[in-house]
Amino acid sequence: MSLLIRNDVDLQAYNTFGFHSIARQYCELRERADIEALIARQARNGEALLVIGGGSNLLLAPRVPGLVARVALTGIELEELGDHRVGVTVAAGENWHETVCWLLEQGIHGLENLALIPGSVGAAPVQNIGAYGVEAGQFIDAVEVYDWQAGRYEWLSRAQCGFAYRDSVFKRLSGRYLILAVRFRLSRHIEPVVTYRPLREALEGKVVDHRAVFEAVCRIRRSKLPDPSRLGNAGSFFKNPVISVDHYKHLQSRYPDIVAFPDPAGYKLASGWLIDHLGWKGRRIGPVGVHEEQALVLVNHGGADRAAVEALAQAIRSDVDRAFGVMLEIEPVFYPR
Ligand code: FAD
Ligand code: NAP
Repeated sequence: MSLLIRNDVDLQAYNTFGFHSIARQYCELRERADIEALIARQARNGEALLVIGGGSNLLLAPRVPGLVARVALTGIELEELGDHRVGVTVAAGENWHETVCWLLEQGIHGLENLALIPGSVGAAPVQNIGAYGVEAGQFIDAVEVYDWQAGRYEWLSRAQCGFAYRDSVFKRLSGRYLILAVRFRLSRHIEPVVTYRPLREALEGKVVDHRAVFEAVCRIRRSKLPDPSRLGNAGSFFKNPVISVDHYKHLQSRYPDIVAFPDPAGYKLASGWLIDHLGWKGRRIGPVGVHEEQALVLVNHGGADRAAVEALAQAIRSDVDRAFGVMLEIEPVFYPR
């Protein structure tokens, strides 16, 4: 039982920003035996550990100390639960979008609004991935983890996962859990969610079945979002801030076109609108820039490192703070901080 560890591995192909980042040590976790070997190794030397999936929500420094372990566990199991309901257990290393496509072929619904999100199934609970009015956590029944603190395997219930907007216990207690599998509760019954206007417009005149929703989501995303294999990025760089009703009313009186949505805590502002309004969309500073079609996405035009992206992000944050009194929060994960 031993892990194949490689030294000084360039992680450029393992992060969608395409940063050159040298991991002192790197390994892949393909089977349960690899997990056992990793646990034994960590018990021996307890060095810094970064677990990655597809690297699509990561901001890696030029050097990464310790060990980087890419989760590559595969396998999907179905369980018919009766009354159109299906339990689906997916290993953490499965690709998210391929899983959504596979479920669609099986006539199993729920995740079609989350099509084309890059990355692994194991990372989906980490930031409770969401798009077009649907969040993965709504369909997650339980998550199988290895808890480094307690030193045991465990299935965490949905309540224990503490899902919130682009957040979960896995993000809040970063490093405590190694996610091994995710169990979803899905359905063979069609209940499309078409609350987002662009999705409704794209579906106009069509029979709204799960395939139509899937195809519309893919079409919209392909038209707005850069393909990381051509232009490095990590999707939305900033979260959408939630502000108080008073703050929103003040902003609305100054900026009547501001895009915002009612939220239990006040109003959720569309960060993309704030950034676009200040003229950042399409701007380029050296090797980094703001995407031409979507102001929320920062891109690597080639040869950028994390510091260049961070400098651009700070300039945008200061500008937005000055104009709107809102400090934007960065969504992708810095490693090391
Ligand atoms: P990684 O980037 O590899 O890791 C992300 C974090 O999860 C890290 O902290 C890592 O340590 C941790 N992690 C990963 N795997 C495990 C594991 N098995 N156990 C424990 N921790 C783990 N996000 C959305 O929510 N909605 C979107 O619509 C969306 N669209 C995107 C579009 C583009 C073009 C891109 C590039 C990104 C987009 N994202 C979106 C962000 C990203 O795709 C998701 O956050 C995705 O879930 C990250 O998966 P990953 O496997 O690449 O995770
Ligand atoms: P969009 O449709 O242009 O909408 C802009 C923003 O308004 C979105 O961020 C969305 O918030 C919000 N919004 C729109 N309609 C809403 C409604 N009916 N109710 C509540 N909020 C609404 O957004 P987009 O940039 O093209 O992205 C489309 C979807 O994909 C969004 O859900 C977005 O979060 C997701 N996405 C996420 C990432 C990422 O990396 N996290 C990357 C690309 C796309 P929400 O973001 O809260 O949904």
